[in-house]
Amino acid sequence: MKTVILWFRRDLRLADNPALRAAVEEAERVIPVYLHAPEEEAQWAPGGASCWWLHASLQALSQDLAAKQSRLIIRRGQSSLSLLRELIDETGAEGVYWNRLYEPLIVERDRSVKAALREQGVNAKSFRAHLLREPWEMRTGKGEPYRVFTPFWRTLAKQGDPPQPLRQPPTLRPPGQWPSRQTVAELGLLLRPRWDRKLHDLWQPGEAGAALALDHFLDGAMAVYKDGRDLPAESDTARLSPHLHFGEISPHQAWHRARARMAGQARLSEGGEAWLRQLAWREFAHHVLFEFPHSSDEPLYERWAGFPWREGYQPLLRAWQRGETGFPIVDAGMRELWATGYMHNRVRMIAASLLVKNIRAPWQEGARWFWDTLVDADLANNSMGWQWSAGSGADAAPYFRIFNPWTQSKRFDPQGRYIRRWVPELAELPDRDIHTPQASAPAILAAAGIQLGRDYPEPIIDYKTSREEALAAARAIRQS
Ligand SMILES: Cc1cc2nc3c(=O)[nH]c(=O)nc-3n(C[C@H](O)[C@H](O)[C@H](O)COP(=O)(O)OP(=O)(O)OC[C@H]3O[C@@H](n4cnc5c(N)ncnc54)[C@H](O)[C@@H]3O)c2cc1C
Repeated sequence: MKTVILWFRRDLRLADNPALRAAVEEAERVIPVYLHAPEEEAQWAPGGASCWWLHASLQALSQDLAAKQSRLIIRRGQSSLSLLRELIDETGAEGVYWNRLYEPLIVERDRSVKAALREQGVNAKSFRAHLLREPWEMRTGKGEPYRVFTPFWRTLAKQGDPPQPLRQPPTLRPPGQWPSRQTVAELGLLLRPRWDRKLHDLWQPGEAGAALALDHFLDGAMAVYKDGRDLPAESDTARLSPHLHFGEISPHQAWHRARARMAGQARLSEGGEAWLRQLAWREFAHHVLFEFPHSSDEPLYERWAGFPWREGYQPLLRAWQRGETGFPIVDAGMRELWATGYMHNRVRMIAASLLVKNIRAPWQEGARWFWDTLVDADLANNSMGWQWSAGSGADAAPYFRIFNPWTQSKRFDPQGRYIRRWVPELAELPDRDIHTPQASAPAILAAAGIQLGRDYPEPIIDYKTSREEALAAARAIRQS
């Protein structure tokens, strides 16, 4: 083939990119393109924080391609197929190659793009790059999709290590004449007002940033990951999720780099194995969303559709979003999210539990807020996390498990360091009181300069009563 269009999507990297590798091997010239048609993803078009990340990641990819004497052709439109057809007309390309994604609307779009291109005689080919295994390859003994993580993980682990990652191609041969392109700025991804400015200091989107984040983790926190991963005040997780979401690093690279680091180092193996298991949660989430495409919007198990959400929950939802619930660990998490586009996993679970079990706001409200504010917003992982918290999804937590935010806080942030970082108005409280200011003696509050209701809210909901109500509602659903 003379010319192939390499369609970048959420695989914004040059290394371990099977579609790119095949294009370079099979074509004389490669035209890298990024097509922005968010309307095709309907309600799940990238949210605000994701758009910031995408902007920076496309800039990084453009620079990486320029270093290989190539170019990223960016086009904005309503339909990927129309944009591809225009490019095919302009360049005479005979093939279009891409790496597969697994979200329901994207799967549907890609199927029709592939069929339409093939019908017009274009060699349309897709590759696996985003997951270690194809979702349809993972089956229970009965030949069914998995709904529970542990057997999924057992099967994945039994299959052994995934294939070794591919190297970056040394060069990308350019076409004689480049088609026109839009700039990244013209995609209008940055928010107005610029809520996202602060994110620049915290993250480095792009392939180089992903490699640095992984190195940093492997050299440091992986050794203590097994226990450290639950402590929000520490930096003991990899913070790789946005990089994995945008495909700036592949799960194969992450897997093999961790394995290589663990080899012969017994002290690393416990943390390393625990981390590989978390990568498998990402696989599981994608498997579930692929097999049960309704699960991003509706409960996986239909009976949960009748759960009695609280009437008039909106003011409580707003307090939760602003980090003003009066539950310090939850407020710390919600403020971390607003300030950084990220929230520690343990706190995501506690904050989600308060929203769906105590406030009894629909889990979709929480998922939507996370979608807009997380830099790692990922339809599969986010839907899984929320449905798990609500008890309506795959591998659901037992319906009677409702996270107690105070005991969780004392257990996982014993000195209140995380709370002090994000809820500074409580910083002067002693360790013992910082988790439960509403239970502190007036003299202790006064000594810390706090008047509840003025400087920090009383809990917006009665924990005990709301817990009982949620349990009763869940019991009724289970019996129905
Ligand atoms: C309510 C809720 C919503 C969530 N929404 C998202 C989301 O939108 N996007 C997202 O990537 N993760 C989501 N998670 C999962 C998890 O919180 C993040 O993946 C994790 O905090 C990312 O930080 P890390 O890269 O430091 O993780 P590490 O602990 O270093 O883990 C390494 C990688 O494994 C994967 N991983 C880890 N835990 C999970 C998990 N529970 N489910 C799926 N994959 C996992 C991620 O890709 C992560 O980058 C959600 C969890 C909950 C409870």
